[in-house]
Amino acid sequence: MIEHAASLEDAIERLYDGRLGLRDRRSVGGGDINIASVLTLDDGSHLFLKENRDDLMPMFAAEAVGLTALADIADGSKAPPVPQVYAWGIDGRRSFLLMEMISPGRLKSGSEFGRALANLHREGRSDDCGFPSDNWIGLNSQPNQRMSSWHDYFAERRLGYQWRMARTKGFGQSSDDDAMESLLNRLPGLLPDIDGGRASLLHGDLWGGNWMADSTGRAWLIDPAVYYGHREADLAMTELFGGFPAGFRQGYMDEWPIEPGFTERRDLYNLYHILNHANLFGSSYWNSAVGIVRRYA
Ligand code: ADP
Repeated sequence: MIEHAASLEDAIERLYDGRLGLRDRRSVGGGDINIASVLTLDDGSHLFLKENRDDLMPMFAAEAVGLTALADIADGSKAPPVPQVYAWGIDGRRSFLLMEMISPGRLKSGSEFGRALANLHREGRSDDCGFPSDNWIGLNSQPNQRMSSWHDYFAERRLGYQWRMARTKGFGQSSDDDAMESLLNRLPGLLPDIDGGRASLLHGDLWGGNWMADSTGRAWLIDPAVYYGHREADLAMTELFGGFPAGFRQGYMDEWPIEPGFTERRDLYNLYHILNHANLFGSSYWNSAVGIVRRYA
């Protein structure tokens, strides 16, 4: 991987030792945050490019780290593939991330996709929760400083962090803080501990827009916000906004079952993403968040 490339041309030149140049570029829609393009090289092969403002380069560097961590598990295992990262850097006023292009197609099997996610969670393990570096969840920062207790981690670095951000932005009032405090104190009774005392590598932002099927029908993961945590947090997000295929959860459960009662815990994991949405997009999400807090407090 080429880090800190001085321009897109520089990256392509170094990747192919000057043998191939850029023949064509075409913008594609679909992303929330970045500008996406498909590049065609002189030999007709394709690369996928994401671009944004130059000051957002650390976001692409973090995405590269996350994709690489997932690729390390996917190589030689049955975990879902992720695009290989080729380069990131700054070109003029824009930062960029250059990666393998996934040739899009139709998913063959929802249950196979579920099994593949379970394989990622089983193969990528750590004694601690968190990750060696921080990253982003949408446009908000996601602190990953490591902690050994999942309950402390989820309370402090996930729910507590987003809650404080929301309160600083002016959402809610002090009676809401009391409910939140009560909820955080109850977490060890509400959520199971990490499996065998070991956390799983999570995609971290697994909504329906962050996977895609390739032309052979296999599901790939894209755009991660990785950290080590309880695997139920990933599974919960797949059920927050929809967009996952029939058979997905059953496939996951067939491969590596979770403890009974998941459906009652699901909203608690997703509270993190709902708070993040409140901080990014506003008060309707805040109202849902407070509803969940009161329910579990
Ligand atoms: P954003 O960071 O802006 O949300 P994404 O990484 O989610 O952008 O990508 C936007 C869209 O581009 C995706 O929904 C998907 O359709 C497509 N896409 C993303 N990565 C690739 C890739 N490596 N190859 C082909 N298409 C991709």
